[in-house]
Amino acid sequence: MNESHEIIDSPKIIVAIDGYSSSGKSTMARELAKRVGYIYIDSGAMYRAVTLYALRHHLFNADGSVKKAELLPHLNQMNITFQPQAGEDGVQHTLLNGEDVEKEIREMEVSNHVSPIAEIGEVRERMVALQKEFGIHKGIVMDGRDIGTTVFPEAELKVFVYASPHERARRRWKELQQKGVDIPFEDVLKNVEERDRIDTTRAVSPLAKAEDAIELDNGAVTHEEQMEWLMKRFQEATEGKA
Ligand code: C5P
Repeated sequence: MNESHEIIDSPKIIVAIDGYSSSGKSTMARELAKRVGYIYIDSGAMYRAVTLYALRHHLFNADGSVKKAELLPHLNQMNITFQPQAGEDGVQHTLLNGEDVEKEIREMEVSNHVSPIAEIGEVRERMVALQKEFGIHKGIVMDGRDIGTTVFPEAELKVFVYASPHERARRRWKELQQKGVDIPFEDVLKNVEERDRIDTTRAVSPLAKAEDAIELDNGAVTHEEQMEWLMKRFQEATEGKA
């Protein structure tokens, strides 16, 4: 039996990967899930889908704040799911009421409006309930801001990913360029810094490292080094369960 089979045959665990926006955590989380045959859930995509819904239904004020009283009755009408398999682009697309919204939720319009949506307690409550359901059978890698602290405080492996705002903006800008979105680097940096500010200071479930999370400085390592590091942590966590 080879090494990867031994991993897959071990009792399934929950892996929580939290960190700042564009820190590379989704890439790591997605790849880990693929290597070990786990479900991958991008919790940020869920807040992005709510934001897209709110934009489409004109639920923002001109100053960017949310028309909260009008949004709340819509929450139960939002069915957010994921395609069971990754598409040809290697990404598992996000579905909003059955519609593939993967491309739209990554646009700057959504990035610029998502943090005020994610600040609303009722929105978080609904998303956290859905996220917990996804993890009911374990065998899941989820990335976000509050996965190790609020969604799965019992997760067997928790990782907290760091990288400087400049490095993260550079990563995001490059991704957008590759998708044909031409936007000044300064605008991307401003968005990253503003989201950090709101995400770390909001009253409900602010972005924070869980006490028992292992830190990874993602600015200083290559993708291969990251994955090697993460696979080792995963093996240790599953061996602890065997
Ligand atoms: O991970 P991503 O940058 O796509 O997340 C988009 C936004 O969703 C974040 O800026 C944050 O405001 C919110 N978010 C959150 N809690 C999570 C995941 C994302 O508040 N677990």
